[in-house]
Amino acid sequence: MSKFSFPDLPYDFSALEPHIDARTMEIHYTKHHRAYYDKFMAAIEGTPLADMEIEDIFAGIEDHPAAVRNNGGGFFNHTLFWNIMGKDGGGVPDGKLAGAIQESFGSFGKFQETFNNAAATRFGSGWAWLCASAEGKLEICSTANQDNPLMKGIGCGNTPILGLDVWEHAYYLKYQNRRPEYIDAFWNVVDWKAVAKNFENAL
Ligand code: MN
Repeated sequence: MSKFSFPDLPYDFSALEPHIDARTMEIHYTKHHRAYYDKFMAAIEGTPLADMEIEDIFAGIEDHPAAVRNNGGGFFNHTLFWNIMGKDGGGVPDGKLAGAIQESFGSFGKFQETFNNAAATRFGSGWAWLCASAEGKLEICSTANQDNPLMKGIGCGNTPILGLDVWEHAYYLKYQNRRPEYIDAFWNVVDWKAVAKNFENAL
């Protein structure tokens, strides 16, 4: 029994309609995410990596085969992505996270604009991230493929607390090539309570 398990989707496939359609959610979770998990398991089976924390695997990512990087990243990134969305999402954060956004970006609007730009301008496939340092400083970056900022030397570093998948498989059925429309729609399903929890854990 591996220490890594394939997580349940925390809501129904249709929960994020109309912003993210049920068919996309179903394929994304049952096919894409599942395949990353299965291939990650195959890549680490019988190796010392099977007993390591995923953060520690990412911290030494250049020492591991590409299959670990691509599929371990895909496994981790999608798990985080499902968890920062929800059917009662949208709006704006409050409390300590809202204060940190204000301090790091000047305003929620500036934060959103910077994040949207990172997501829209990522060439090809990848992710946009909001990352928090242990001191509570927030930064935005984007990464290619299934990389993430926990991988040594990748993106803005520190702990990703919010991520947006900008691979075409995440939006093509509903939005075709209109990535900016998908990015705009994403804000309607962001679960700020979940992001705030990730922020607390990063501190
Ligand atoms: Mn994806």
